[in-house]
Amino acid sequence: MNISLLDLKKNFQEVTAGLTDREAIEEANRCLYCYDAPCVKACPTGIDIPAFIKKIASGNLKGSAKTIMLSNPVGASCARVCPTEELCEGACVLNHSTKPIKIGHLQRYATDWAMRNDAVLFQAGKKNGKTVAIVGAGPAGLSAARELARIGYDVTIFEAQQEAGGLNTFGIVSFRLPRHVSLWEVNQVKRLGVDIRTGVKVGKDVTAQELLEQYDAVVLAVGMSKVPMLGIEGEELDGVYDAIEFIKETKTKPLTNRFVGKKVVVIGAGNTAIDGATCSVRLGAENVKILYRRTKEEMTAYDFEYEFAKQDGVEFRWLTAPKRIIGDESGKVTHVECVRMQLGAPDQDGRRRPMPIEGSEFFIRADVVIKAIGQTRHLDLIKEFGIEHDGGVVKVIGAHYQTSNPKVFACGDVIFGKGGGEAMVVTAAQQGKETAYAIHRYLTTLNETL
Ligand SMILES: Cc1cc2nc3c(=O)[nH]c(=O)nc-3n(C[C@H](O)[C@H](O)[C@H](O)COP(=O)(O)OP(=O)(O)OC[C@H]3O[C@@H](n4cnc5c(N)ncnc54)[C@H](O)[C@@H]3O)c2cc1C
Ligand code: SF4
Repeated sequence: MNISLLDLKKNFQEVTAGLTDREAIEEANRCLYCYDAPCVKACPTGIDIPAFIKKIASGNLKGSAKTIMLSNPVGASCARVCPTEELCEGACVLNHSTKPIKIGHLQRYATDWAMRNDAVLFQAGKKNGKTVAIVGAGPAGLSAARELARIGYDVTIFEAQQEAGGLNTFGIVSFRLPRHVSLWEVNQVKRLGVDIRTGVKVGKDVTAQELLEQYDAVVLAVGMSKVPMLGIEGEELDGVYDAIEFIKETKTKPLTNRFVGKKVVVIGAGNTAIDGATCSVRLGAENVKILYRRTKEEMTAYDFEYEFAKQDGVEFRWLTAPKRIIGDESGKVTHVECVRMQLGAPDQDGRRRPMPIEGSEFFIRADVVIKAIGQTRHLDLIKEFGIEHDGGVVKVIGAHYQTSNPKVFACGDVIFGKGGGEAMVVTAAQQGKETAYAIHRYLTTLNETL
């Protein structure tokens, strides 16, 4: 198969085109501007959707973008990555008669205008003399910073990567979320005077103790970490990738044709697996298979992601688990030995437990194996802060986001799991906002455990 670098670049351009002016006006005019609109309740950040759509209809695009970004500091990214059919659009009353309003597309239309016109949407509040350190500049950390700066706090974000934005900048594939969108949101936060120190890893370059001593409050918004080891033979072979590192490469380094004509096996069936698989297709892989030890019903990827992967030609092998990865003498992957699975009784998380069927082993040819079986936790850092956690999921008090150390707050993926909400950009954004308000209450009114 012949594929030029130009083709590769095209493959990584955003898949959905934005609405044209005419399409946006027509769509905005379909909105019924419901009183007590169900879409607003279904949006985790509570954007006033009818208001922003009305502003599009009346040509007030700056006002529209402001309404969106006020409720959601990463509203331009969310316009592209929210599972809208499960959230705002799923709640639209027009689902009962025709089709729902394209809320995500309209949100993108307004925020794209703000990006193109470099609109200044917010201003920092009058300084109140108090300082907050935020660890991690992903959606949760940025949202907390934006709100704290608007209130008047002096905010410093410490970010381990060379650029801010978290998974929006490095983890969600470019053809769904280009980096420039996330970096524009970062810039909106910087403009409020927030000091974002990139390339600084807390726990290595700065200690937790230093932050606790130097700031009035600390926010832990470090998300999750690497993909865990599969724990099978052959993981060290040439051609085995961590899905998150792999996607990051496609977002930060020049694209190469090393996947052209290759057979790729992706292990796992969450959104990361789908992103790893669709990236491989767009890099020119000849065949891409997703192996999942359970069935489609237990798969954690969003429906729209699953459909997207199928359209890209990704094959799914349900009830299949890898047993070992096999390589040739030069250490390159050649096959994956798999075993068929069956589902037993539900385990602790309510999902039926997969069990291998003895003697059902078989081989799949593969040049590349991408591991996408979830993410590990930042255990060392959590321990350094000395806060309570459950297997690396930081424990917080309800909607106050306060940890067992009253001075330390946590939000976003670092508190996800064990019943702690959903790992989505929009939830991280909302938790970041609520954390900012909780810190404000803590430092101004109560100054005690909330
Ligand atoms: C491949 C993939 C696809 C996804 N697709 C979607 C999607 O389509 N829609 C959706 O809503 N959600 C999606 N998600 C989930 C979403 O990206 C996360 O829920 C969201 O980014 C969580 O935000 P966060 O700020 O908590 O963490 P992150 O975005 O992970 O940001 C945490 C930041 O903390 C930094 N950090 C970590 N440790 C340190 C340290 N010691 N010192 C300083 N900084 C540190 C990290 O470098 C990072 O920048 C996807 C996730 C993945 C992995
Ligand atoms: S942030 Fe997400 S859920 Fe909320 S209105 Fe926008 S697209 Fe819908």
